[in-house]
Amino acid sequence: MRLTALSLAMLLAADLPGCASNVDGWLEDKQVDALPAIFIPATAEEIQRQCPRVNGPLGCAVRDWKNRICRIYVEAPPKPWIASHELYHCAGFSHPL
Ligand SMILES: [Zn+2]
Repeated sequence: MRLTALSLAMLLAADLPGCASNVDGWLEDKQVDALPAIFIPATAEEIQRQCPRVNGPLGCAVRDWKNRICRIYVEAPPKPWIASHELYHCAGFSHPL
């Protein structure tokens, strides 16, 4: 699936954080550049605060373009599938809107 120019512009404008939840499926193409990732141990409340648009996220990847870093908020230790899911967001991939 390819993004239209409009939806890509909306995605870039919103710069939505990526979150592990019950959302499955990835857009086929990378949407933004990859950023180096760091893991930040967080409570469920903090993860929810970082990803307010997702209901009950298990992890949240926040791209910080100014500082060129992607912060992954997860409960420690993260389950491997959650860690890899968030790393995929930091590598530039997103879910369909
Ligand atoms: Zn996700």
